[in-house]
Amino acid sequence: HGTADEPLPVLGNDVLAPLVTGGEVYYAALDYAASAPVLRRVWDDLAAYAPYYGSVHRGAGHLSQVSTRLYEESRATVARFLGCRPDDEVVFTRATTDSLNLLARALPEGTRVFVFETEHHASLLPWRGRHTTCLRAPRTPEQAVAALDEALHAAPAGPKLVCVTGASNVTGEIWPVRELAAAAHRHGARIVLDAAQLAPHHPVDIAELDVDWVAFSGHKLYAPFGAGVLAGRPDWLRGAEPYLSGGGASRRVARRADGALDVEWHTNAARHEAGSPNVIGAYAVASACRALEEAGFDRLVRRERQLLARVLEALADVPGVRVLSLFGEEAERVGVLSFVVDGWNSSHFAAALSAEYGIGVRDGMFCAHPLLRVLLGGAADEPGECGGVSGPSGASGAAPEPGERSLNAVRASFGAGTPDEH
Ligand code: PMP
Repeated sequence: HGTADEPLPVLGNDVLAPLVTGGEVYYAALDYAASAPVLRRVWDDLAAYAPYYGSVHRGAGHLSQVSTRLYEESRATVARFLGCRPDDEVVFTRATTDSLNLLARALPEGTRVFVFETEHHASLLPWRGRHTTCLRAPRTPEQAVAALDEALHAAPAGPKLVCVTGASNVTGEIWPVRELAAAAHRHGARIVLDAAQLAPHHPVDIAELDVDWVAFSGHKLYAPFGAGVLAGRPDWLRGAEPYLSGGGASRRVARRADGALDVEWHTNAARHEAGSPNVIGAYAVASACRALEEAGFDRLVRRERQLLARVLEALADVPGVRVLSLFGEEAERVGVLSFVVDGWNSSHFAAALSAEYGIGVRDGMFCAHPLLRVLLGGAADEPGECGGVSGPSGASGAAPEPGERSLNAVRASFGAGTPDEH
C-alpha cells in the first residue's frame, strides 16, 4: 500500500498484468485518460537534450541554435504525426484546453459555434460569448451527423465552427469525425477536432479526416505536463489578434510620434506563442509522437481492443456494475471506459479500489457534466467542478462476491450506506 511519501512501483504499459508479482505489490494506474505516464523513451530523449538546453529564437549562441532547431523540428514532427497539409500551422500551446481557447479567440466576427452537449468542458466552454448552439446528445453516430446537418442547414449565412471530440473521455466511444467534417463543409462551416483522447490511441490524420484543426495534450500522449498542440488552417489564426501579447509574437515594435505603439505581428505560429517558448514541452511531445509512430498504431489499436474486450467482459460479470455508453454495444471505442456501481458513491469506490487493490481510477463527473446527466438520467449528483458522481442508489440485492466483501469493509470505514452523502 503506497503513500505519497512512499510510492509503489507503477506497472508498465500492460496494466492488466498481475497485481502481485514475485511477492512485490504493484500499483495499477488505470487513469491514463486523465494523464498518462511519461514513456521512458521520452525521459531519455529529454535527458539527451539536457546539455543543449538553451533559449529559443533568441540568439546566435550554440545552445540557442540547437534549441531553436529542436523546437522547429518538433513542430515538423507533430505536423507529420497529424498528417498536416502543407499550409497547416502547428502552434504549441499548454494543452487541449489552451488550444481550444486560442482558437476561440481567433474566430472571425459573428462566427456561430455548434457543439454537442456531450463534449468535455474544454470543448464546450471556450466559445462562451459567441452565438453557440448546443445540440442534444445523439444516441447513434448517424444521429450525430443528421443533427449537425440539420442545425447547420437552418443556420444563417456567415462564419460557422463545429467543435467535436474524437473519442469521449467518459465512454471512450469514437465519434464519426469524417462524416461530421463532411457535413460541416457541405454547409460552409469549419470544424475543430478535440483529439485529447483520440490521438493517444488512434491515428489522427487531418487531411484524411478533412478537419480544419486538431487539438491535443502532450500529457495524455505519454509526454509530461505543460505542452499541447493546435494544428490546422492558418487563415483564421493569421487574421486574429495574438493570443498573448509580447515578445516572440511581434516582428516590429515602434513608438509613434503621437506616443502610441505601432506593432507588426508575426503571421506564422509565433503570432500565438508570445513569451519564451516551452522547448522542453514541445520536444517531449515530438518525442512521444515519434514513439507512437514507431510502435505503430495498427499494433496499438489491436492490443487495446483485446484489453478492452477483456475488461468489458469481466465487468459484465460483476453484479451492480454498469458500463456507461452513449452509442450502445456496437460503438467503436478507444481503451477508455467508465462505469457506475450500484449503491456506491464514485469517490468512495475509487478510494476503496486504491486502498484495497492498489488500483488507481479517475472518479467524478469527468469534466463533462451534461454528458453524465444524459448517461445517468437523474442519478448524477450536482457536483462541484468535476466532482462526485454516484451510481443509482440501493443495494444490488446479489450476495457479495469474495472481492466485494473486502470492498464492503472499506465502505463501512467511510461510514457509507448513504451513498449520495458525498
Ligand atoms: N478534451 C477531452 C476529451 C479530454 O479528455 C480532456 C482532458 N480530460 C480535455 C479535452 C482537456 O485537456 P487538458 O486538460 O489537457 O487541457
